[in-house]
Amino acid sequence: MKNIPTSFREASASGKVSRGLALAAACVAACIFTGCTSGVKDTSRTFSGVVLDAGHGGHDSGTTSRYAGREKDATLDVVMRLRPKVAGAGFRTVMTRSDDTFIPLSTRAAISNRQSNVIFVSVHFNDTRRSAIRGTEVYYTSPCSAQIARNILNQIAAIPGASSRGIHTANFAVLRRAKYPAVLVECGFFSNPIEGRRCGSGAYRELLAEAIARGILIQRRGAGAMLAAE
Ligand SMILES: [Zn+2]
Repeated sequence: MKNIPTSFREASASGKVSRGLALAAACVAACIFTGCTSGVKDTSRTFSGVVLDAGHGGHDSGTTSRYAGREKDATLDVVMRLRPKVAGAGFRTVMTRSDDTFIPLSTRAAISNRQSNVIFVSVHFNDTRRSAIRGTEVYYTSPCSAQIARNILNQIAAIPGASSRGIHTANFAVLRRAKYPAVLVECGFFSNPIEGRRCGSGAYRELLAEAIARGILIQRRGAGAMLAAE
């Protein structure tokens, strides 16, 4: 996914730019006064299941890179590695896709929204024209999701050689429509020669999956929680 402009491209595609911006403004106002976006059920400390969303798929390849291939393949690989780790920690898992299929953003949100007591974790990779930029970013919309974003980011940033570009709020469609806490992980930049090559390797994607799983586990069970294999 291409950073912030993508969210507006998604919104634009459905002709809802101004409505989206108005909703975002309303959300920000609501968040300041209530601490939680209305319509989002705060399961961030109680969740028993995790919806795992591999970004893109089918005719939507996401970004492509000479260093790392197609984003849709990398996101699916991370999620396929992530699922058994999350399930092994005792959580129900639901995948929005488990093969190279195009799933509309609204369907991804709907799959999550019909679950009970879950959080939603979307996996993407980033790109930009400035090839020097690198690092992991985690996005969220509702403040209920901020701590999940922080925990996942901290775990990825702890991978040797990885770096953090922080957690950020964004109006991505897949987050905006979520009825449960939801985060979107931009694991790293395909456009950076070093990080791109790392993101293109199965070994690094295994580390990313471990880090995301650990972040989820820490969110639910506290800082001392460990994955089954640890
Ligand atoms: Zn993406």
